[in-house]
Amino acid sequence: MFDFLAEAQKYFTYTRDMRRDFHLHPELGHQEIRTAGIVARELQALGLEVSTGVGKTGVVAMIEGSQPGPTLLLRADMDALPILEQTGAEYASQNPGVMHACGHDGHTAILLTVAKMLHGIRAELPGSIKLVFQPAEEGQGGAEGMLADGVLDNPKVDITLGLHLWNEMPVGSFALAAGPTMAGTEIFKVRVSGKGGHGAIPHLAVDPILAGAQIVSALQSIVSRNVAPLQSAVVTVTTFHAGEAFNVIPPHVDLTGTIRTFDLDVREMVLRRFDEIVNGVAAGMGCTAQIEHVRMTPALINDAKTTKIAQGVAARIFPDSPVTTSGPITMGGEDFAFMMEKVPGLFMFVGSANAEKGLNYGHHHPKFDIDEESLPRAAALFAATAVELLNR
Ligand SMILES: [Zn+2]
Ligand SMILES: [Zn+2]
Repeated sequence: MFDFLAEAQKYFTYTRDMRRDFHLHPELGHQEIRTAGIVARELQALGLEVSTGVGKTGVVAMIEGSQPGPTLLLRADMDALPILEQTGAEYASQNPGVMHACGHDGHTAILLTVAKMLHGIRAELPGSIKLVFQPAEEGQGGAEGMLADGVLDNPKVDITLGLHLWNEMPVGSFALAAGPTMAGTEIFKVRVSGKGGHGAIPHLAVDPILAGAQIVSALQSIVSRNVAPLQSAVVTVTTFHAGEAFNVIPPHVDLTGTIRTFDLDVREMVLRRFDEIVNGVAAGMGCTAQIEHVRMTPALINDAKTTKIAQGVAARIFPDSPVTTSGPITMGGEDFAFMMEKVPGLFMFVGSANAEKGLNYGHHHPKFDIDEESLPRAAALFAATAVELLNR
């Protein structure tokens, strides 16, 4: 049988150099011009027909197998974050204030490596592989943009497959979990309006700060009193802005924050209670409230059958590696869930932390960095799972 790990190890220098190059030159969502250009160049060098500008800055290419079969979509995200890097690495960002702090540089390099591996054995493959390099994963609608440009059509995709390097787990471990795996994420924006006035004459004003503070406290009861103890949800207020001067009661308070859920019924209930509490507490304090909810990503749900196949592949290639087989894995969100909502599949987690080397900062931390030994492991698992899925 084809040795995917040995093959991925052969490409290690290529994968690492690609990853470091992307890390040196990070680009924010929908600005991945350089990155997309390199991706397109590398895919064209394999002789693949490449579509650029898909969902603004996304890149898509097809690898055709020699026999008919299913179409598998393999996805990597390419965007960086607005963070000032503090790793001190030799390959640290040369674009101050922009940093690959989530590992998407690794994902792009991994999928380029997988493209080389699968292209090399295309004569033995049934079906076809759609390579999708997605922009703007970090909350800017990258997946939705590619969906709007028809990334799941022509040819129609049958299975979706993606992965994330994961610093919550040590290098050498994996998580291939069936069912709900990552949270559905929402943003809320609330404006509480009262009546401004003099700080020393409060009875002639309606104080929105007091109402806002009560709202923040009351919202804590959703998770503690409304969500069933064995279910999960997060309601977090992350910004609270009001006022300019020490002696002025301001007319408004603006709050924003995030809601995370896995289950659709829990989601509906949390959103309903959120609105009831905000409106009710505001009214009780003599204020009014305007509420806006923005759905960022659906919950990410892994298909049971696809997950089982990948677990078999992992057991074969990495017989000694621990594999987490049940979720949820994180309350973080992932916009690949938009594609998986349309076409079921699997999102895999590949351990990338190494505490001994100090490579265990969390995702989105200015010192985030991965153990690059995770790169060939991820490429091997990605390619081998793809081949297994095509052959089923
Ligand atoms: Zn991220
Ligand atoms: Zn990410």
